[in-house]
Amino acid sequence: MNKLELHSVAFEVTRRCNLKCVGFCMRGEAQNFDMTKEMVDAFFDTESRGYILDSIHNLYFTGGEPTLKPEIIIYTINKIIEENIPVCNITMVTNGQLFVLELVDAFNRFNKYRSWYVKNKLQTGKEIRLSEIIEYIMNKNYAKIVFSTDRFHAPIPENIRNLYSIYTKEVKLMDYAVKDEYIVRIGLSSIGKDFKKEECEYDKVTEDHLIIWKNVYMTAKGDIMFGGDGSYQYIDDNIIGQVNQVSVFASAETHNQKKLNYNKFS
Ligand code: SF4
Repeated sequence: MNKLELHSVAFEVTRRCNLKCVGFCMRGEAQNFDMTKEMVDAFFDTESRGYILDSIHNLYFTGGEPTLKPEIIIYTINKIIEENIPVCNITMVTNGQLFVLELVDAFNRFNKYRSWYVKNKLQTGKEIRLSEIIEYIMNKNYAKIVFSTDRFHAPIPENIRNLYSIYTKEVKLMDYAVKDEYIVRIGLSSIGKDFKKEECEYDKVTEDHLIIWKNVYMTAKGDIMFGGDGSYQYIDDNIIGQVNQVSVFASAETHNQKKLNYNKFS
């Protein structure tokens, strides 16, 4: 069966938000759409569409504000652990206005599971990627929570920040404040640049084994696209199909842009 590696995947958990970052938010008006468990199941059920997921290097939970729909993130993490789905790292990007203990517990569980999984591979001599060994030696934070802390977002309440610090276990907590000069240049703004239709950057490892470098994005409506920045309108205009129908493997070629050198990481 065909094999697919994905460098990065983002789940737009919800299009709802509890902030209005005026002049900054590239999404536009919030929308009342949430991802469903069926969409998550369909994303990972690739065999029915003729390929297996060999690995996902980075899975991002984004939005909207992902903490408004924690059950989808918890469901996804539990599914990865229970079904041993090869996801290496997970990251949630949040505005930090909410703390949900069950959600943080799920991030802790993923980190523990992933540390055990890689250690077990090392100890038992199973096939292991160089990137996994480096990650294991350098950094045991397989789960990250990133707070948006630029001047457009509301400050993160101190008590919320403390709760994250108290309850996370080896989950990396990071602040990210996009610099003003990048806001327009890379389009992270309602007045940012116009996005060009994004296409798929991929490499063929063998005829039946692809690695896709471009971010694969699933919207809160269950649509798939390559890329993921820009407004909801832009995203909706550039989808390649519904998650339960589209073959990401086959779409790599039909949305081909250019081939990069394999071995970007091993
Ligand atoms: S930038 Fe993020 S937090 Fe701010 S309104 Fe947009 S989705 Fe919400």
